[in-house]
Amino acid sequence: METKVYAGRAKDREILSHCSSGGAFTVLSDEFLEHGNAVLCAGYNYESRQTEFRLVFDKTERDRCRGSMYMQSYALDSWKKALKWLTDNPDKELIFFGVGCQGAAFKEFASRKGILSRVTIVDIICHGSPSPMIWKEYAKGLEEDGKLSSINFRDKRTGWNKSVGIARIGDKEISLSKWKKAYSSKVMFRPCCSKCHYTRTDRATDITIGDFWHLEDKMPDFFDPMGTSVFLIHTDKGMQLFDSVRNRLDYRESNTKDCWQMNLERPTTHAADREDFWKDYRKKGIDFVMNKYGTNNLTRKLQRKFRSLLK
Ligand SMILES: Cc1cc2nc3c(=O)[nH]c(=O)nc-3n(C[C@H](O)[C@H](O)[C@H](O)COP(=O)(O)OP(=O)(O)OC[C@H]3O[C@@H](n4cnc5c(N)ncnc54)[C@H](O)[C@@H]3O)c2cc1C
Repeated sequence: METKVYAGRAKDREILSHCSSGGAFTVLSDEFLEHGNAVLCAGYNYESRQTEFRLVFDKTERDRCRGSMYMQSYALDSWKKALKWLTDNPDKELIFFGVGCQGAAFKEFASRKGILSRVTIVDIICHGSPSPMIWKEYAKGLEEDGKLSSINFRDKRTGWNKSVGIARIGDKEISLSKWKKAYSSKVMFRPCCSKCHYTRTDRATDITIGDFWHLEDKMPDFFDPMGTSVFLIHTDKGMQLFDSVRNRLDYRESNTKDCWQMNLERPTTHAADREDFWKDYRKKGIDFVMNKYGTNNLTRKLQRKFRSLLK
């Protein structure tokens, strides 16, 4: 079918305040959990300091997987566990959430293992995945005074489109602004991200979700400062799922033009100084690169401008 596009957000304000965009993940996964089905998604592991896929059967555990974790996630043995669970429970189904490349990989896996008809695949629009090694080292540095108890790269206290990165150690809040700045500087992404095949509106998954950026211009009367998701529905299976959750959403129909954002058209280009970042990291360590690439450094800004003019 031709891709159908919606702007939508959870009617439940509690969901909206705890998710990164408009709550698409919670609303779609609720439909599965409430019927005894499973969710395969990524969440942060505070022990291993990495984002890992896990098989989830209840809302408490699912809620722990909310939040966009700006680092590459690991599948570990979660897909094997999902296959075993589907094999042991032949009347059950599963919904998968992961970024574009992971959605495509899981589709291939499900197809080869003969479980594709029982899985729904939702992929997430992705700007790029930073090295998990760099995050681990950065997080270790943050944990000098105790273990992190929560991480939110998209805290909405200043609004969805001006969100801030906040972590906690007990009652103490720590800013993640250096990580977010370094993330948006495009110096930490995996090499393959600049050749991503999944930065398009027509995809092989059932549904694609992301932020409905520029909603304030495209549908000003539907804008909500707490966030709105874009839903791109690619298959009949995806449409049936969207139909079954319409009552949980405030939504409007849209189109592929109005929901445009760069990563629905092309991959993120690596920064011109990406190699410098890695050289600096190897020579001078994590604190140095976070101070240089994770702050508004005027000298670096001028160097970047000069380089792009030369290009
Ligand atoms: C690295 C990254 C880059 C992104 N870039 C863009 C972008 O350029 N444009 C855009 O519109 N949206 C982007 N998103 C998606 C957006 O930030 C929201 O995650 C998405 O819209 C879902 O919103 P929600 O309100 O349903 O999320 P939430 O309820 O907060 O759920 C977040 C979902 O993302 C999954 N997730 C979180 N971190 C990871 C990870 N590292 N790997 C795999 N899955 C993960 C969770 O398992 C969950 O399914 C990105 C997300 C990530 C993780």
